[in-house]
Amino acid sequence: MELAGTSAIVTGGASGIGAASARALAKRGARCVLIDLNEELGEALASELGGLFVKADVADPEQVQVAVDAALEMAPLRAAVNAAGIGTPGRTVDRDGNPLPLEKFEKVIRVNLIGTFNCLRLAAAGMAKGDPVDADGSRGAIVNIASVAAFDGQIGQAAYSASKGGIIGLTLTTARDLSAQGVRVNTIAPGLIDTPIYGTGEQADAFKAKLGANVLFPHRLGTADELASMVVECITNDYMNGETIRVDGGIRMPPR
Ligand code: NAP
Repeated sequence: MELAGTSAIVTGGASGIGAASARALAKRGARCVLIDLNEELGEALASELGGLFVKADVADPEQVQVAVDAALEMAPLRAAVNAAGIGTPGRTVDRDGNPLPLEKFEKVIRVNLIGTFNCLRLAAAGMAKGDPVDADGSRGAIVNIASVAAFDGQIGQAAYSASKGGIIGLTLTTARDLSAQGVRVNTIAPGLIDTPIYGTGEQADAFKAKLGANVLFPHRLGTADELASMVVECITNDYMNGETIRVDGGIRMPPR
């Protein structure tokens, strides 16, 4: 998939993995529409990249449709990266015997799983409007960001693991559905990636160093650029489809 002269949608595009993915896609010539809740960071990056920021909740159909329409107005939509995500921890039953409030579980599922599918379906419908770009009939490629927590979820991650497992579950199915439109779907399951979710400052650096020591090799957190490199590969390699790839330095997460 050639990205020059195309548009792309990146959710969670204001920060971390989404922002690094948007930079990498823009470098290849894609005009990026960043979907995020963080207006300040989103506006700043969009103007730096010559793209557009749309403040939208990924789980809201109307708000995301606005972003898809904006992308289609700029150029044919050929790529979408679903990186927006949240992780609210909480044990299934806490130490005092209280069950996890169902609203907490529902919120994570809503943003991570329903939000991903909402953006995937609307972006795919936008891609389907374009002409095929090659003899194969290719129209676009979508990358979802799951997590290794889908496979080795830690204590307190029931909602997060379920949401990311759901994304992995729909990867092959949506790739099959969208084969009719010439749209490929892949998912990346990151390990521990150095992004703003770990905070900043001395304490955060010490925590990240401790986390990194448990990575098989190299003994450090991954960078958002290392993730973005795989995002670009999944989009530009026309034979990548229906797959989930761990990018994690070989880590297998322990229970806690
Ligand atoms: P990040 O820096 O916190 O970026 C996520 C962005 O998504 C934030 O800007 C956030 O905005 C936005 N967002 C949250 N809820 C949203 C919603 N409903 N609609 C639109 N935007 C929303 O996190 P990251 O580390 O880059 O994570 C990106 C993805 O990778 C997530 O799906 C995460 O689960 C996954 N992941 C990360 C790691 C890691 O170690 N970093 C590991 C495995 C998987 P606000 O800040 O305003 O909420």
